[in-house]
Amino acid sequence: MGPHKTNSSGKKPFETEERGAFRDSVRRFVEQDIKPYVDEWDEAGEFPWKLHLTAGALGLYGFGIDEKYGGLGFDDCFMRAAMSEELGRCGANGVPASLASCNITTGPIQALASEAIKERVLPEVMSGAKGACLGVTEPSGGSDVANLKTRATRDGDYYVLNGSKTFITGGMNGTYFVVAARTGGEGLRGISLFLVEKGAPGFTQEAIDRKMGWWCSDTATLFFDDCRVPVSDMIGEENRGFLAIMNNFNLERVAIIAQVLGSSKLCLEESIGYAQERETFGKPLVKHQVIRHKIAEMSARIDAVEAYLDSICWRINEGDMPVAEICKAKFFATKAFEYCAGEAMQIFGGAGYVRGTLVERMYREVKVLSIGGGSEEIMHDLAVSQMGL
Ligand SMILES: Cc1cc2nc3c(=O)[nH]c(=O)nc-3n(C[C@H](O)[C@H](O)[C@H](O)COP(=O)(O)OP(=O)(O)OC[C@H]3O[C@@H](n4cnc5c(N)ncnc54)[C@H](O)[C@@H]3O)c2cc1C
Repeated sequence: MGPHKTNSSGKKPFETEERGAFRDSVRRFVEQDIKPYVDEWDEAGEFPWKLHLTAGALGLYGFGIDEKYGGLGFDDCFMRAAMSEELGRCGANGVPASLASCNITTGPIQALASEAIKERVLPEVMSGAKGACLGVTEPSGGSDVANLKTRATRDGDYYVLNGSKTFITGGMNGTYFVVAARTGGEGLRGISLFLVEKGAPGFTQEAIDRKMGWWCSDTATLFFDDCRVPVSDMIGEENRGFLAIMNNFNLERVAIIAQVLGSSKLCLEESIGYAQERETFGKPLVKHQVIRHKIAEMSARIDAVEAYLDSICWRINEGDMPVAEICKAKFFATKAFEYCAGEAMQIFGGAGYVRGTLVERMYREVKVLSIGGGSEEIMHDLAVSQMGL
């Protein structure tokens, strides 16, 4: 099946030749280098590192990063969204999760880090040679970022970090970690960001196994036990990290919206393909009205997410950051994905219940996307706070 078309002509709003060519290159990458192997990789619990190198060569890590550090030297939210959407169609979201963990990490480095850090870290991450991860969530909680407990205490030319981070994507294989720690008093005004490198004394990682989904994505708990970080490796100003984390969440959430859009389309395409082949009561499933309605409903929700995402991308390209819309679109998109994955499973019947089928995997991957990067509950809450309520 070809990609799901959103209107009768199939032409996307805001499409340009450049955006179309970029989307095609990511689609080819997904079709040739990822999709055929996702089942094998998910069962193995990992995928080959060379995928990062291919992603780097395609420029998938370079949006918003200066050319002198190996970045693309420009940003375009439509291209970012196209990238995440196409990756979301690969059939195992653990791949884009681990591949793109650096994209939620390099933003604060580009925006706030010293020249020395940028020169040290960004070129290797842009090329895909080294991985970068973001450490915000702690065992005591991820939603209440302002209350995080990992502490960084100044000692001469160093900060000494003590505490722990959990559920960190790319945390075992990554080299560079942007870690949030408390340098000041309680609350959101006491948080700073630090660059910590794998192998730093007092820094250890432990894999989190047996996840419900995203099996091929490496996820880790990080431990900081008197881990000494040079003062020069602080990213941005002391005690100003909370705002940087919140700003960074916006583009992470846009990426998640686009990724679940891709995965929802995959569910729809799989459903249509199966419903055309499978016959019950003397005719293909697709000719039964109830199944047709499921397809219409999935398609309508996908169209709505796509249109919402397009309007958000347009506003971001115009220099606006529509925080409320991003939050609303995130929970709306993950709910749409939940619906599409559930109905796809239903259309497949028993065949969808078998491990390794795409719809079975999609169904297991719904929850992490409605929890990670800001849970549905937090997205609702934040959207209403943005209304001044
Ligand atoms: C596979 C995976 C990968 C991840 N990757 C990363 C990563 O790379 N970096 C990183 O920093 N984090 C990562 N996370 C963590 C993720 O961002 C958090 O799981 C998420 O922010 C929620 O935090 P929590 O799990 O601690 O839940 P909690 O904050 O403990 O919340 C538990 C539940 O209560 C709800 N809740 C909390 N507060 C409220 C409230 N005020 N009102 C109503 N409901 C509320 C939440 O929505 C949630 O449903 C990852 C998580 C997973 C599962």
